[in-house]
Amino acid sequence: NNHTKTPQFPSTCCYCGVGCGVLVSKDKNNNITLIGDENHPSNKGMLCSKGMNLHYTVNDRSDRLLYPQIRYNKNMPLQRVSWDDALDRTAAVFKTFINKYGPDSVAFYVSGQCLTEEYYIINKLIKGFIGSNNIDTNSRLCMSSAVVGYKMSLGEDSVPICYDDIELADCFYVTGANPAWCHPILWRRVEAHKAQNPEVKIIIVDPRKTDSCAIADLHLQLNPGTDVTLNHAIGKVLIENGDIDFGFISNHSQGFDAYQAIVFEKSLEESAKICGLAIADIKLAAKYIAQSKGFISMWTMGLNQSSVGVNKNLSLINLNLITGKIGKPGSGPFSLTGQPNAMGGREVGGLSNMLAAHKDLANPVHRKEVQEFWGGKEISPNPGLTATEMFDALEEGKLKAIWIICTNPLLSLPNVRKAEAALKKAKYVVVQEISDKSECLAYADVVLPAAAWAEKEGTMTNSERRITYLPKIVDAPAECLPDAEIIKIFAQKMGFKGFDYQNQEEIFIEHGKLTANTNINIEGLTYDILKKHRSIQWPYLKHKKQQTKRLFIDHQFYTPSKNAIISPVPDVFKSERPNADFPFILTTGRIRDQWHTRSKTSKVNKLNQHIKQTFLEINPIDAAQLSIKNEVVVTVNSNYGQVRVKAKITDAIKQGVVFLPMHYGKILNNDLNRTNNLTSPLLDAVSKEPDFKYGIVNVVKY
Ligand code: SF4
Repeated sequence: NNHTKTPQFPSTCCYCGVGCGVLVSKDKNNNITLIGDENHPSNKGMLCSKGMNLHYTVNDRSDRLLYPQIRYNKNMPLQRVSWDDALDRTAAVFKTFINKYGPDSVAFYVSGQCLTEEYYIINKLIKGFIGSNNIDTNSRLCMSSAVVGYKMSLGEDSVPICYDDIELADCFYVTGANPAWCHPILWRRVEAHKAQNPEVKIIIVDPRKTDSCAIADLHLQLNPGTDVTLNHAIGKVLIENGDIDFGFISNHSQGFDAYQAIVFEKSLEESAKICGLAIADIKLAAKYIAQSKGFISMWTMGLNQSSVGVNKNLSLINLNLITGKIGKPGSGPFSLTGQPNAMGGREVGGLSNMLAAHKDLANPVHRKEVQEFWGGKEISPNPGLTATEMFDALEEGKLKAIWIICTNPLLSLPNVRKAEAALKKAKYVVVQEISDKSECLAYADVVLPAAAWAEKEGTMTNSERRITYLPKIVDAPAECLPDAEIIKIFAQKMGFKGFDYQNQEEIFIEHGKLTANTNINIEGLTYDILKKHRSIQWPYLKHKKQQTKRLFIDHQFYTPSKNAIISPVPDVFKSERPNADFPFILTTGRIRDQWHTRSKTSKVNKLNQHIKQTFLEINPIDAAQLSIKNEVVVTVNSNYGQVRVKAKITDAIKQGVVFLPMHYGKILNNDLNRTNNLTSPLLDAVSKEPDFKYGIVNVVKY
C-alpha cells in the first residue's frame, strides 16, 4: 500500500542477454517493484516471468552475506572481520604468492553478470598491474565459441544485426537454442512477426522438441553433435541449386572454393543418415533460406557448448555468407547471448586471451598501447588460464590463489566433483558474493559481501550491442560494497596507482577512451548521454545522428582484407562416443523460470511453481526398455559422477538422448541433484568452451 509510482528508475533486467528495459519504483521502506519499460527499444514494455519477478530477489534479503569474513586457517570457521582486515590480509597473501611463485600463481574468476565497469577494473588490475592474464569468466562456458566464430569469419567479435531486424526477416534458422524459454522477449517478437506474416518461415534445429517448435514450419530433430554435417548439407544444396550470391562471394568474401570442396565431400544421403533427418527436410530448409529476402541464423548454447563449438559456429555463419545475407536489413548471423553482460565483459577484455577494447593480446602493438594507457606493468603476451584450466591448475598446485566473483563454479563447471576437489586443495580462496548459499563458501578463506543489482550503478551491453545504464536504486544491506569498489580498495592496498576513481562513471569514461579508433568505439559516451537516450548501441560516434543498428552494410568486414572469411570447416567429431557402458547421449540446458545457479530465482515462489525439481527427460521407447515409469527415481552415471533424479518420460526427446536441466546443485551435503557431476571435461580446442551438450551416460532404476 505504501508503494509509490514515482520516482521511477529506468534500468535493465539482470538475467538474460536480451537486456530488457525495466522501470523500478521504490516505497518508503526501500522495497522495490518494477514494470517493463515501453521506451526501451529491446523489449518495448514486455517482460518474461523471470523479469516480472525480479524485484522479489532484491526485497528478500534473507540469504544475503552481510559482513566480510575470514577463515584464519583451513580448520577454523569463518568469522566476521572488518573490510580492512579482509582486504589487508588478502593483499598480503597475494603479494607473498606473486613474489614467491610469480604473477601467474593468482587468478580471478568472474561472471557475465558483472557490470562493465567491474569487469574493466578487475581486468586492469590483473593484466595491467599484477602482470598476469589469469582472468576468465563464466562467459567461457557460454559464448567463447561464438567469439572465435565471429573473429574468424568477420574479423572481430561483432554481432552484425539488431533486434529490429526481426520484423524485417522472413526466414529464421534457430539452432541449438530454445529462445521461447531462454530468450523469451526476443522470441515474443518473432512469434508476433510470424502471426502477422504467416509466410515467414521458422526452422528449428534441436534434438528436443521444445516450446520454440510451436511456431516452427520445420523442426529438424537432428542427432546431437551433427550440426556441422547439417549446415554443410544445407550449404551443398544451396550451391547445387545456384541459390548463392555470386556477387557477394566474389567481391566481399574469400575461401569459397575450399568451402565448396568440403561441403561436397559427403553426399546428401550420407549427411541425412548421420543427422538422422530426411533428405527432403534438408532440402526444404535450404529452399526456405534460398527464397527468403531476410535470413537470420540464430543460435546459442547448443552450438557454443561443444568440443567442436567453433566449427559449429563457422559452419552456420557460412550459410549467411554464401547467400550474401549479412549487412542487409533483416539478415545476418545472430548469437543470443546467455548472460546479461557477456557482451560488455568481452568489450573490456574480460577473458584470459583478450585485451581491453577488443584489442589483441597476441599483438605487441596493442599490448603496448594498453600498457601505456594504464601506466602499469608490461602486459604478458601469454594467454592466462581459462575457466576450467584454473581449476586444473589449482589441483596441480600451480595456481595458489583464486578470487571468485559473482559466480558459482561448484555448480556450473563441467566434471564439477573434480573442480570441487581442486578448490579444496587451493591455498587461498576469496569468494565475493551476495548469497550465503554458494557452495564455494565452504572452501573460502575470505568472504567479501557484494552489493546486488539495484544496489549499485554501472552499465551492461545486451545481445544487440546495446549499452544501458543501471542506476543505484536502494542502499546495499549492512556492509555490502559494489564489486568495483572492493577491487579498487584492494588495488590501492596492493600499492597500485591508477585506481583512485571517485565514482563508477570515471571507470566507464576511461574504458570509453581506450576504445577510441577501434570498431567498438564509445569514446565520449557518458552516463548522461545513456540516460538521455535510454540506451546506445556501439559503435557510438558522437558526430553521427543515427545509432549503429547494424554492422557491415558496406560489406567491409573487420578482417585485414576487408573480406568476410568463408571457412572450410572440417566435419569432425570430438566428443565421447556412446558405448555399451554408457549408451545414452546426455544434453543439458535451461528451464523457463530458473536462472543459472538459482541463487536468485529459487527465492521466488512463483518461479518455483513452473517446475518444482530437477528431472531427467527420457524417450518412452528407452524408458520402456529400462522398465522405467514416469516420475520414478533413476540414477544416471557417467565416467565422472552420478545424479539421482525423477524420470520424465516424453517423446519430445529423441530416442537414445536424455536431458537434464543445468540449474541444480547440492542440497545440504547431498550432491546427487547436481547435473554437472556427469558432464565431460572435454573442451573446444580453440575456444576452450566445455562440451556440455554431449556427454555419455547410462540410466538405471534406483
Ligand atoms: Fe529479463 Fe531476459 Fe526475461 Fe528480458 S527476456 S525480462 S532480459 S530474463
